[in-house]
Amino acid sequence: MSSLRTAEYNLLRREQCAKESQVERFYRRSARNTSDRLRRNRARSEQQMANRMNSRVETDVSEHDCAMMTEICNFCQALYWRNELNFSNKYTKCCHDGKVRLPNLTETPVLLKELLTNNSLEARNYQ
Ligand SMILES: [Zn+2]
Repeated sequence: MSSLRTAEYNLLRREQCAKESQVERFYRRSARNTSDRLRRNRARSEQQMANRMNSRVETDVSEHDCAMMTEICNFCQALYWRNELNFSNKYTKCCHDGKVRLPNLTETPVLLKELLTNNSLEARNYQ
């Protein structure tokens, strides 16, 4: 019985939709989209509020201090924190005890150097 009513309703609705003009259809769909958007936004903000309520903020966190980077690689003079020693008490994350050597940087191309150092309008736009 209920499915018959649903079928009747659908048939009636389909006839109404077939009769409506393009403008009427546009307004009907716009209103539907607006209400859908409002419903989605409301659901999203409710979810965000719930997330905020559920998240627990840790307030008793002690400050961590790494101290200064006082350790220096003997090969490349890279700086390290004291606790960055590896299992063999060495600092090897930079050059692996001098095994890795990078070539010196080449000279900056003239155009790029001018754009980086000049005070012209073109250079200022670039900077
Ligand atoms: Zn090194």
